[in-house]
Amino acid sequence: MNRQQEFVLRTLEERDIRFVRLWFTDVLGYLKSVAVAPAELEAAFSEGIGFDGSAIEGFARVYEADMLAQPDPTTFQVLPWRNEPHGTARMYCDILMPDGSPSSADPRHVLKRQLSKASDLGFTFYTHPEIEFYLLKKMPELGELPVPNDSGGYFDHTPHNSAHDFRRNAINMLEAMGISVEFSHHEGGPGQQEIDLRYADALTTADNIMTFRLVMKEVAMEQDVYATFMPKPFTQYPGSGMHTHLSLFEGDRNAFYEPGAEYQLSKVGRGFIAGLLRHADEITAVTNQWVNSYKRLWDDPAASAGMGGEAPAYICWGHNNRSALVRVPMYKPGKSNSSRIEIRSMDTACNPYLAYAVILAAGLKGIEEGYELPPGAEDDVWALTDSERRALGIRPLPQSLDEALRLMENSELVAETLGEHVFDFFLRNKKAEWRDYRRQVTPYELQRYLPTL
Ligand code: GLU
Ligand code: MG
Ligand code: MG
Repeated sequence: MNRQQEFVLRTLEERDIRFVRLWFTDVLGYLKSVAVAPAELEAAFSEGIGFDGSAIEGFARVYEADMLAQPDPTTFQVLPWRNEPHGTARMYCDILMPDGSPSSADPRHVLKRQLSKASDLGFTFYTHPEIEFYLLKKMPELGELPVPNDSGGYFDHTPHNSAHDFRRNAINMLEAMGISVEFSHHEGGPGQQEIDLRYADALTTADNIMTFRLVMKEVAMEQDVYATFMPKPFTQYPGSGMHTHLSLFEGDRNAFYEPGAEYQLSKVGRGFIAGLLRHADEITAVTNQWVNSYKRLWDDPAASAGMGGEAPAYICWGHNNRSALVRVPMYKPGKSNSSRIEIRSMDTACNPYLAYAVILAAGLKGIEEGYELPPGAEDDVWALTDSERRALGIRPLPQSLDEALRLMENSELVAETLGEHVFDFFLRNKKAEWRDYRRQVTPYELQRYLPTL
């Protein structure tokens, strides 16, 4: 046993912890959990705990159902939820095949594989997500419309503001789980919140996002409200995105920083953006994986004017340009380590392991192949006409899950990054989602067509 594993076992004993939850994530990004008694952990560390993989979305075909969950001791945390029986802890797991090799269906493994590719090139990948979500009065019954929990707007702070209490409780709970929060505020839509996590390596960030979604649901439940990460729950209000700030480090040096360069952005940084732009359309099915995700990416700024409905719809980059897919934030003098770029397409309902894997793959490709960075977009790209955008070489992002899947299906980059198993499962599952959606006759159609047709 290594020192971290020993530390976990010692802590369990010292704190009299009776249950350990082993967490992992299915291909669609849902959290899975199996509870074990501390006595089982030594075996779990050495061989893993067996479970039936065929019961997990995207994991196995029935004839190869046996899988193992092996806890990662560096992710050990005692759970701070109030109604949890005293002394419950959790660890994230890696998923193994019966012969002990990593399972190709494990999203955490997909990201690890990409991170080790970055590390072969000398890079560590850091990420810092801005997580947006809505608080609703309750989970609506079928046919009911969602009702936001408050009527605040961007940065609003009103006395006795329940959103404020919510964020304070939520942040306390995140910090109690070792997740540092940098910033939080009311977002543009009524009931909409944003909490930004401090930057961390991408694997830690992805684990943290999984924890974050659960913590928000728990805190909301305690306060008798409902938290949702659905990308666009309201037609008339902005969607919820997960803009993520990205940087590569070589040792302790920020590889995106070059003093004196335009925006202090190095050749590595420019290559990374060029890669993101060139591959943006093929990776969108992974960063925005639901039918509903595309209602956000279509967001018409005129329809949610002044409410921060600033989701990207076109593939371009800019300096402080909030209509661009990739933004280079203002450089803070003297803070070379904070050089970074922001990708604005992703939503919080993605599978963060897979999304960060394809983003990193696209960026690295741009660096390795020396892609040329096209000129930045100075204008508000939403306000240009289609032909103006075409003249500038600015392509739209996919406009529906269907379009995104067609682009992904032909992508060597995504196939290679996800690996054959996840790639095939993802396409199959998502095409079925699109078919289900497509056959629905919606209230919009009934209202629009019945009176006249
Ligand atoms: N809610 C917007 C989106 O869906 C982003 C608003 C902002 O933080 O700029 O991406
Ligand atoms: Mg925001
Ligand atoms: Mg942002």
